[in-house]
Amino acid sequence: MEECALCGKKGISLLWAFHKEKGGIWVCAECWKKLYEDNMLVYGSSESGCAC
Ligand SMILES: [Zn+2]
Repeated sequence: MEECALCGKKGISLLWAFHKEKGGIWVCAECWKKLYEDNMLVYGSSESGCAC
């Protein structure tokens, strides 16, 4: 099961975020917002964030 890479929450819907230091991680909406507000997200790759 997926879990938030930051707070470890499970069983929730996760968002793909490209962290400036950690790289691509799955985080919950709460943490995503936090990263967004702290300007820790890398822009320009959100549309093609899938690394498969
Ligand atoms: Zn979280």
